[in-house]
Amino acid sequence: MIPRPFRSLMLLAAFALAACASDIPAAAPSQPAATMAAVAPSAEPTPVPSTATPASTATPSERQIKSSIQETLDRFAEAYNDNQADLLDQATDQTNAPFRRFVRSQFDDFQRSALARYGIAEMQVESITPREHGFVLAHISVGGRSAADWPFREVDGRWVISEPTVAQLGAPLKLASEHFTFDTYPWASDVNDALMRMMEQARSNVLARLGRAPEQKAQVFINPIYGLHPFESSFALAYYRPITDTDTITIYAPHSFAFGYYDANAGWEGELENVLTHEYTHLVQHRSFPDASNVSSWMEEGLAEFVSGSTHPNDLRAAVRAGAIIPIIDTTSPAFKQDLEHLSALRQDRALAYGFAYSLVAFIVEKHGGLDGFWALARAYQKSQSLEKAVRDAFGTSYEQFDQEWRAWLEQNYG
Ligand SMILES: [Zn+2]
Repeated sequence: MIPRPFRSLMLLAAFALAACASDIPAAAPSQPAATMAAVAPSAEPTPVPSTATPASTATPSERQIKSSIQETLDRFAEAYNDNQADLLDQATDQTNAPFRRFVRSQFDDFQRSALARYGIAEMQVESITPREHGFVLAHISVGGRSAADWPFREVDGRWVISEPTVAQLGAPLKLASEHFTFDTYPWASDVNDALMRMMEQARSNVLARLGRAPEQKAQVFINPIYGLHPFESSFALAYYRPITDTDTITIYAPHSFAFGYYDANAGWEGELENVLTHEYTHLVQHRSFPDASNVSSWMEEGLAEFVSGSTHPNDLRAAVRAGAIIPIIDTTSPAFKQDLEHLSALRQDRALAYGFAYSLVAFIVEKHGGLDGFWALARAYQKSQSLEKAVRDAFGTSYEQFDQEWRAWLEQNYG
């Protein structure tokens, strides 16, 4: 699983951190003024992009649509940065109930998170493409480093962020590639072919790294809108689930609000290749390493991040320098353990926990015998369900010694 709102918004926070100084300070949040100045929307009205590029071939109506979308984006950023839910309502389609609920729950999650203090970066509509049913797809630049492609539609004379209804997606489509079958919709026809290619690429990535992958076809569900499964958790951008004999991977399609933001340099393709490789790693661990798959969640998420090359350098550097290492086993709290052994139940800093889970796997690979060392630990853990015992069985050392070595390795690489 990939944590959704935090994963995408971390890009924005990384921008805020980088904007504080030339290097990331040990205690980045100690400079709130500089940080906010870097990300808060300007008090001046944002110029309409088409006036800045008069040579464009935009028709008057295109200009009007872009201008209205820009106003909506300014309102959306202001809602996030000032925690104003009424502005959020003005910026989003209130006639679509599941979508309205999803937008609101993402907003509330963000306002509760540690990232809220950084706000979100300024958004600029760069181009629009007409879609069916009166929608346009807007390509949006976010703080210069991130981007988004979101559908808008006109409601009461204003262009607001929206998504199609289930009926507007068209009749369900079934497609197939060599190792996957896909359930998708005509609405996603602009991305279906790319997603099919990328899923095969994700399988190749995992096979190259782990040496195994099942031949049996897995089932991929492409969700072009949140409203298809409106009662699913909105936490994940993509997730893997074994359902009896069939492996399933569900992904939110690019070109949707539910997909969120992505790194502008990597493009949505780069972002999504990491995500799909992450999810397929879960599938391979479950199917191809059955004696090493019933393990603690940091072993699953850390391996998936390691294989997909999601190395979290900025998060790890900031946290290690701030002395905010998330422990493997929390020995201080009697309940609600804030540690990597309880990664999937963490109440805060979950995205950062993925970074530390990655670091543990990278440390084991480097210092304890490569991926064979990782599998030895995972197999020992599956047998005993005790990390202390598994560390001793796999590496012949105490858990305390292992923990100290990992912390020293973190200091050396990120301190
Ligand atoms: Zn995962």
